[in-house]
Amino acid sequence: MSVFAELIGQPHIVLALKDAVRSARNGEETQEMTHAWLFTGPPGSGRSSAAIAFAAALVCPESGCDTCIDCRSAKAGGHADVEILATEGLSIKIDEVRELMQRVAWSPSVAPWRVVVIEDADRLTESAANALLKAIEEPGARTVWLLCAPSLSDVLPTIRSRTRHLQLRTPSQSEVVRVLVERDQIAPGMADFAARVSQGHIGRARYLARDENIRSRRNVILSLPFTITNIATAFSAAATLVSLATEEANSQSASKSEKETQELGMAWGQGATGRGMASGGAKALKELEKEQKSRATRMVRDSLDGALLDLATLYRDVLMVQSGVEASLINSELREQIVQLANRIRPEKILQKIDSIMQARTNLSFNAAPLLTIEALMCALSE
Ligand SMILES: [Zn+2]
Repeated sequence: MSVFAELIGQPHIVLALKDAVRSARNGEETQEMTHAWLFTGPPGSGRSSAAIAFAAALVCPESGCDTCIDCRSAKAGGHADVEILATEGLSIKIDEVRELMQRVAWSPSVAPWRVVVIEDADRLTESAANALLKAIEEPGARTVWLLCAPSLSDVLPTIRSRTRHLQLRTPSQSEVVRVLVERDQIAPGMADFAARVSQGHIGRARYLARDENIRSRRNVILSLPFTITNIATAFSAAATLVSLATEEANSQSASKSEKETQELGMAWGQGATGRGMASGGAKALKELEKEQKSRATRMVRDSLDGALLDLATLYRDVLMVQSGVEASLINSELREQIVQLANRIRPEKILQKIDSIMQARTNLSFNAAPLLTIEALMCALSE
């Protein structure tokens, strides 16, 4: 077994990381092993899984056996020498980075290395990124920084230039199918469907394959473009899309939040002895609620973005039909309706619609109001 077994379709990354771990054993900084790394790759390619697997391999006495206590606790985020900074909010602020730097200032306690994983380095505010830069420029001799971001351009050039870059690729459809069938015991037909429509995003594929509700929400969203004929239907399609995306995000964040609030209450002595929380508990709870609110906002945005990507695949399919390559439709279940659209709307118009979808995604990423953005989009999608 190896911690790297989970990296699907990334043999070049596994090779580089194994070389680095081998060098790290000797304790020297070499060409293979360096103290700052940057993992980039499209959503779902597993960039943070790669970073965390590397962290586990660096603290494991067997270079990442995946079974020992070091490997397991590193992967679960509970290892004394592995710090994982994963933000659920929209940005990572300078205070968080300063706190992190204080926590990791000393030498590793049990492992040969202290490893810091920053899952969303693209969400660092500029001041937070500059604070981090100082740490990367003058690293503790035994500290390794692993940053993750969608692409190189999401990270400040000064940080980029001080890290070794590893680019993950989107796994192929057949690689995703294999993981779903072999690791997650999903039926081959369902695995085929989920891998096809999620376009190499393993997490999304697994999620779709396992949950009937999510599949039916996706079906409704994909049927929307066929219902838009005028402004009124465009507005109602927008309302439907926003409410489905919000519903999906809320169902995820609500169960997460409930568990966290309960755990926090326990940690502060609520419940167990029949008394209230210890002093300081109320403040901690307030902090947690603030974080949960910020996460809920982010999850709605992520869910809307996923819906827009699904819509984009539909218009992409229309273009495929128009170019005579029907064999590779992503949404082959909707072939008939896709062919009708292909016959009715000219390819230039379809391209404009895809542009409008991409523009809406960009606007949402700059915090545009969701409903207004989607309403404008649906009007643009109307024929
Ligand atoms: Zn191990």
